[in-house]
Amino acid sequence: MIEKVPNSTQNLPHQLSDQFGRKVDYIRLSITDRCDFRCVYCMSEDMTFLPRDEVLSLEECARLVNVFVSLGVSKVRITGGEPLVRKNALWLFEEIGKLKNLKELVLTTNGSQLEKQAQDLKNAGVKRINISLDSLDATRFKNITRTGELDQVLRGVQAAKLAGFNSIKLNTVLMRGFNDDEILPLVDFAIQQAVDISFIEEMPLGDVNHTRESTFVSNADTLKFLQSKHPLISSAETTGGPARYWRVANTQTKIGFISPHSHNFCESCNRVRITCKGELYLCLGQEDKIELMPLLRAHPNDDQPLISAILNSMAVKPKGHDFDLRRAEPSIVRFMSHTGG
Ligand code: SAM
Ligand code: SF4
Repeated sequence: MIEKVPNSTQNLPHQLSDQFGRKVDYIRLSITDRCDFRCVYCMSEDMTFLPRDEVLSLEECARLVNVFVSLGVSKVRITGGEPLVRKNALWLFEEIGKLKNLKELVLTTNGSQLEKQAQDLKNAGVKRINISLDSLDATRFKNITRTGELDQVLRGVQAAKLAGFNSIKLNTVLMRGFNDDEILPLVDFAIQQAVDISFIEEMPLGDVNHTRESTFVSNADTLKFLQSKHPLISSAETTGGPARYWRVANTQTKIGFISPHSHNFCESCNRVRITCKGELYLCLGQEDKIELMPLLRAHPNDDQPLISAILNSMAVKPKGHDFDLRRAEPSIVRFMSHTGG
């Protein structure tokens, strides 16, 4: 569905919007399924990764982003897998950073490569950065990520601060019995570093070796606990995502809560996801998808088939997701590293 855009944005030929009238102006693009970590909630220990030719080339990623931006997308998040372990990923950031109508280029990373790459990413035009951090205890960090080194990630956080991004946010997935006793230390770390932090409820995606029902920590409980420790001020701020924010009084830190189990954010969903295989997923929790890779490869010099497929996909973007923790099987057996978190 195409909406005519008002005069003020006439430089944009189209604005994608779906069958429910939701404007789609945000894409999350996973540029690799590979990762140097194996977080317990995200990957199995012995992951098999996709063969190279089944993954979008960086040139194909750049072409896709360009097409989406021409359709009114103004925010692009690059994710993975771990986007920064992809060879020459910086080239892609530089290409996307040059797009005139793009307002925000943002990145989600595990932080392991930031010590080396933060400044180049900032120079390429990355505005904001999300860094996953689930524990401040090195042994526990290793247990959760299976291969990650806490010190390396903390050096990455410092490098990101030095590079001067508009905002840095830590992302924490809380799991009962793994890291739910670190809520306060993690928030205090964020305050001390003058960065933001979001707590993400674990989503039933992929195939993990623990029962999600027993490790689930609800954001409502986390918020209640934090309110007893810090003066929190409800904030109407939004980053265009599903997070609800609270400011910690007298600090520079916001605390976000991303609660995929409540349907509260589906009504304002403004995003679609593209996997590293070029699958356009219209909802994180539903199976509806459009294969874009065959179109990219069959029409290397003609964007029209791609544009038509994207416009048509808006008619099948579902109203909302359907996660259910009580099911024995994950609702959607799709690894987050494949879809892009
Ligand atoms: N490797 C990067 C990272 O870890 O930030 C980017 C990709 S990762 C898939 C993106 C985000 O998804 C991370 O913040 C991670 O914690 C989150 N994530 C992965 N699996 C999840 C799950 N089952 N439930 C909730 N969040 C998950
Ligand atoms: Fe890798 Fe990110 Fe998944 Fe952890 S959450 S395994 S860092 S892709």
